[in-house]
Amino acid sequence: MESSSAATVSAGPGPGPAPVDLLRRLRARGAADPVTHVERVPARAGVPAPWPSWAPTELRAAFARRGVVAPWQHQAEAATLAYEGQHVVVATGTASGKSLAYQLPALATLLADPRATVLYLAPTKALAADQLRAVATLELEGVRPACYDGDTPRTEREWIRRHSRFVLTNPDMLHHGILPGHAQWSGFLRRLAYVVIDECHTYRGVFGSHVAHVLRRLRRQCARFGATPVFVLASATSGDPATAAGRLTGLPVTAVTEDASPRGGVTFALWEPPLLPPESSSSSPVPPQATGDGSSPPAPSQATGDHDELRQVRRSALRETADLLADTVAEGVRTLAFVRSRKGAEVVAANARRALDDAVPGLGDRVAAYRGGYLREERRELERALLHGDLLGLASTNALELGVDLVGLDAVLICGYPGTRASLWQQAGRAGRSGQEALAVLVARDDPLDTYLVHHPEAIFGAPVEATVLDPANPYVLAPQLACAAVEAPLTPADLALFGEGAKEAVDELVAAGALRQRPTGWYWRHRERPEVDLRGEGGAPVAVVESSTGRLLGTVDGGSSHFLLHSGAVYLHQGVSYVVDQLDLADGCALVRAEEPDWSTHARDVTDLSVVSVRSYVDAGPVGMFLGEVDVTSQVVSYQRRRIATGEVIDTRPLDLPTRELRTVAVWFTLSPQSLALAGVQPADVPGALHAAEHAAIGLLPLMATCDRWDIGGLSTALHPDTEAPTVFVYDGHPGGAGFAERAYGTAAAWLRATRDAIAECGCETGCPSCVQSPKCGNGNNPLSKPDAIRVLDVVLTNLPA
Ligand SMILES: [Zn+2]
Ligand SMILES: [Zn+2]
Repeated sequence: MESSSAATVSAGPGPGPAPVDLLRRLRARGAADPVTHVERVPARAGVPAPWPSWAPTELRAAFARRGVVAPWQHQAEAATLAYEGQHVVVATGTASGKSLAYQLPALATLLADPRATVLYLAPTKALAADQLRAVATLELEGVRPACYDGDTPRTEREWIRRHSRFVLTNPDMLHHGILPGHAQWSGFLRRLAYVVIDECHTYRGVFGSHVAHVLRRLRRQCARFGATPVFVLASATSGDPATAAGRLTGLPVTAVTEDASPRGGVTFALWEPPLLPPESSSSSPVPPQATGDGSSPPAPSQATGDHDELRQVRRSALRETADLLADTVAEGVRTLAFVRSRKGAEVVAANARRALDDAVPGLGDRVAAYRGGYLREERRELERALLHGDLLGLASTNALELGVDLVGLDAVLICGYPGTRASLWQQAGRAGRSGQEALAVLVARDDPLDTYLVHHPEAIFGAPVEATVLDPANPYVLAPQLACAAVEAPLTPADLALFGEGAKEAVDELVAAGALRQRPTGWYWRHRERPEVDLRGEGGAPVAVVESSTGRLLGTVDGGSSHFLLHSGAVYLHQGVSYVVDQLDLADGCALVRAEEPDWSTHARDVTDLSVVSVRSYVDAGPVGMFLGEVDVTSQVVSYQRRRIATGEVIDTRPLDLPTRELRTVAVWFTLSPQSLALAGVQPADVPGALHAAEHAAIGLLPLMATCDRWDIGGLSTALHPDTEAPTVFVYDGHPGGAGFAERAYGTAAAWLRATRDAIAECGCETGCPSCVQSPKCGNGNNPLSKPDAIRVLDVVLTNLPA
């Protein structure tokens, strides 16, 4: 990188340059202006409310000691609804003080009734620990708040069960520990007044569907002990939060959505990295019969986030973000860069550090990387350093979204569209101290959706945020959850209504499978052992990353990503330090690594196979068929490439011997007759490339229709599929049993494929690029691809398909 313009850094966090000036300097660096749009999000004055009359003096005084003089309007409104016994969800922006909305009624009740109890659920242990500190500092007599999670020492657990009246835990602990041990918790559950569900928008997709049933199991146990707790939920801004909270809890929930907290103004820029000079493309592998683009949930961490493998057209968003981070840090601006993948966050931090050190040796120390897999002590240290200004720049995955209290930054860089407008606003919401202007920049990745968005700002700034999607009726969730419930207490016909749609069918299947036995009093679990159900199980158990020479635990990687990131020979980055994996031991769940900094990076490849299990629904449109149904997807990481970091040149491809993974899920697919393709001018030899290119772009644009991101979805295209006996493009949910994304694609097929067709046709490239038909996660190295023929394929579909 060119050296940064400013060489000095202001000491500690002070007011930085005005965002408009900062943006002007940033965009003036290159020849072409990378900014496609600037939106000004105005400042908002707060609307305070009086303390509710029911809030006891003692509690008001405790909050006043913490600096809370009066609640904001939305806090008072939600708190009073909850205090009056209504289930309520407060869905407002980042740092709008949602905690007070549940702390107020919960703590007032604990003070008024010395026997009452409160259960608080957070999606992460870190957030529960934060909330514990917040409640503990109020120093209220007799509340005795305590965290109860996997880290709680055995010796303390009994004391907590008996004496704590404010227990903070997570859905996993509720599922694995508290509900199975309900007899020991009967005293606590009998007196349960409130259940608080923090960051409830994180319970989406399959994980959300599991949590929905864990909450139904909790309600069932409470009812057995005679308790009917009030549910108070806190959510990021989302579409229709009352419906989502209702699906999650199974209860009628009132929503409070009017954010009355003050906010500084934000200058929001859309940034498209510059075009690179044309370059000759690298050699391509032989085209296979079918081309698959596996989804590997939980997916974002699988992404390398870098597009080095593609014939790049634009400068990578990672490099651009790293430069922006270096420049803002050099200006003394406290900046947070959100990067979608772990590896990407490490790369951004490392590049920014290098650039700063080149300018002023030692300056690079003020930039670090942060992500979910770090150990708690490391995370805390980074948060502390940034808040105190020792650290000025942080590159992070979205781990920070989960409520860790880090707000009031001067600038936020968002490297790549985070998949939903809800996440985008949540990330941008980290910028802006009260009364101060801040800067937010969305840096577009070389990707069809990002490119579409930076040129259609109305799709960002003029559209409502998405609703949280979860489907408690997913049979792959319902059956195991009913099994867990049956172990806790036999299921009765009345319980089936509680668990909702599909419960009776799932129970019948469990009976047929020999897991449940029907008796006059209900359905009983037949086995000695409990069923093994992991709420976040689709990725498998996390894999520990251990340094062989010292035995030191560096961090963890979720099981689903481990095949991609920790295969033997993989180069693994941790805090900018490079390690090479000696061995991935899947049986023991650990990867042994050694510190080493080779001058290559590694990129895993997988192969995918797909078979149709059943068709749920279809549209017969003459030469075109559109289908929704169940499919079996088999995928396997089979090899990895080593590439020179400096040039991207492929050194070699090495085979891997890893087990296959199976996924039964829901897919949408379309078929075309070979005659219709020939008529449209697609030569038989070009059919595979046409379908493959259409598939890539369709996957890239689906997030416009469904609340998923492209990493939730996989695809496969083939000139002749044995099950459809026709040229076919499949797009499937990357989650067992599906998460509703393929259904949404099927329901909006004409609009979805129209946007796909337009995105390809409007792209200025000649033969296809990452902004239209290339995919960063292609299992076949983006080969074969035919951009003009993809447009022909989609035209055939759109001409025949009813709108
Ligand atoms: Zn293009
Ligand atoms: Zn592909």
